[in-house]
Amino acid sequence: MSATPAWPPRSAPRLFVKGELAAGQQRAIEGPQAHYLGRVMRVGEGDAVILCDNFSGEWAARVVTAGKREVVLEIADHLRPREDVPDFTLCPALLKKPRFDQVLEKATELGVAKIRPVITRRCVADALNMDRARTVITEAAEQCSRTALPELFEPQPLAQFLREWPEDAVLWFADEQGPEDDTVPPAATAFAERWPPAGLLIGPEGGFDDAERDLVRDHLQARPVSLGPRILRAETAAIAATAVWMAAMGDWTGSAET
Ligand code: SAM
Repeated sequence: MSATPAWPPRSAPRLFVKGELAAGQQRAIEGPQAHYLGRVMRVGEGDAVILCDNFSGEWAARVVTAGKREVVLEIADHLRPREDVPDFTLCPALLKKPRFDQVLEKATELGVAKIRPVITRRCVADALNMDRARTVITEAAEQCSRTALPELFEPQPLAQFLREWPEDAVLWFADEQGPEDDTVPPAATAFAERWPPAGLLIGPEGGFDDAERDLVRDHLQARPVSLGPRILRAETAAIAATAVWMAAMGDWTGSAET
C-alpha cells in the first residue's frame, strides 16, 4: 500500500503576502511574485503554495488559475501560527550594499526580531533603500521557513539611536579594542548573563571613532564585549555575534520546522 503523499509537499513555493490570510479566501498574486510562481516554479492548477502573512502564520493554498501576470490561489489549511521570536535586536552600522545585504539576509535566517541600522562617522554608506532591504529580508524569511518577518527600522545616527534605546534592554557593544582590554568579556560569557530583551551594536568597516566609542561606553545599558583576538569584518562580526547570542539566549534549542 503506498503512503499518502504529504500535502503541501516540502518543495511547494513559499511566499509572504500583505494583509491577513483566512481559510477559503482567494488571493490574486501579481508582479514579481506571480512571475516567480508561474515562470520560475511553473505552478499549475491544483498545485500547492505556502503563504505567510506575518500575522496569523503559515497557510497551505491551492492554485486556482495560473496566468502570465496573475496567479489566483485559494487559501486552505492553517499550517502553523506565527512563531515567537526571541527579543533580540541587531544594530549594525550601515555598510556598502552587498555586505549590508548579507547582514540583512543572515540576521533573518539566524532569527533576529528587529534590525536597527545605525549611521556612524566612518560609515561609507549613509542611506538604505528600505524597500530593497525589506525584499532581502522577506526572501530570506521565505527561504528559511520563518513565519515572522524581522522588523526593519529606518537608519538612525548613533547619538539618536542611543538616546532612543529602550531602558529595559541591554545593549551589547562589539568593541574591537576588547582583545587589548581585559575588562571586556568574551561575548559568549557575557551574553549568557543577561536575559532578553537585548541588542547588539556593531561598527562599520572602519570601526567606531574614539568619541563614538566613549559615547557608547557611557550609555547606561551598553556593555562592551569581545569577539576574540582577530579583527573581523563588520558583516562577519554581526553574523557571528548574532549566532553566539542565539545559541546562548535565543531559540536554538528546538529543531528546524520544515
Ligand atoms: N577599527 C577596525 C580597523 O579598521 O582596524 C575595524 C573595525 S571592524 C572591521 C568592524 C566592527 O566589527 C567593529 O567596530 C566591531 O563592532 C566589530 N568587531 C570586529 N572584530 C571584533 C572583535 N574582535 N571584537 C569585538 N568587536 C569586533
